[in-house]
Amino acid sequence: MSADEVAPLFELLAGRRIVALTGAGCSTESGIPDYRGGGRPGPRNPIQHDAFMRRPEVRQRYWARATLGWERFHGAQPNDGHAALARLEAAGLLAGVITQNVDRLHHAAGSRRVVELHGALADVRCLDCREVEPRAALQARLLDANPGWLAAAAGAARPDGDAELPAEAVAGFQVVGCRGCGGVLKPDVVFFGGTVAEPTLSAAWALLAEAGALLVVGSSLTVYSGFRFVRRAHEQGLPIGIVNLGPTRGDALAQARVSAPVGQVLPQLADALSAAESSV
Ligand SMILES: [Zn+2]
Repeated sequence: MSADEVAPLFELLAGRRIVALTGAGCSTESGIPDYRGGGRPGPRNPIQHDAFMRRPEVRQRYWARATLGWERFHGAQPNDGHAALARLEAAGLLAGVITQNVDRLHHAAGSRRVVELHGALADVRCLDCREVEPRAALQARLLDANPGWLAAAAGAARPDGDAELPAEAVAGFQVVGCRGCGGVLKPDVVFFGGTVAEPTLSAAWALLAEAGALLVVGSSLTVYSGFRFVRRAHEQGLPIGIVNLGPTRGDALAQARVSAPVGQVLPQLADALSAAESSV
């Protein structure tokens, strides 16, 4: 990655207040798989919102997989791309981040203003009393209710790290209820077919309204919940830059784009923008 490759983004963004829209590609370098990037197919058997709400066996399959998946997910650390965005915010050059990611790594990197469009796996909500339980606390309760599960599940899981499990392995998994009322628990994230909560969407639009430019980071923009911000930015005549490995649905609306790993591009971009700002 040379400075020349970052130059078009720098030219586009210098002197403007940036809002970043981030997706899975921002976290792949943290070891969290991007199922839509790299030409790979979509996630296997994605959880559908309606099925999760209606069918106990779908919730059992979800929590059986998630109990295994959490062990890897919760240990992930922010990468240089997350750090660069936090640095730009601290320098006053970035107003905030709208993210499609549910890993909370922007917060871990030090970003302060973050709108989590799809929620966060770190929170679990009771569908009956609405109490929120930290996912880490729930993990301990799930492991207590299913002794030996991690070892058994790890043996049954696919070698690529996807926590997909055969039906016979899931059948014996014990799902636990809300610690307060015994009600049904759901990770506080938007599943496929679910909708983004109105207060969350309002916060995202409010953030975009402060933008002098939109920077898309690590998203192919295939999901409308993210693409709509690019479309609105375009309608309002805001400059749009894209950093993503591979093509995106927003390419035709962008004035500058770089196809390279986020963790390589953003630190250079942040350095250049910060240097330009301090020389004013
Ligand atoms: Zn409850």
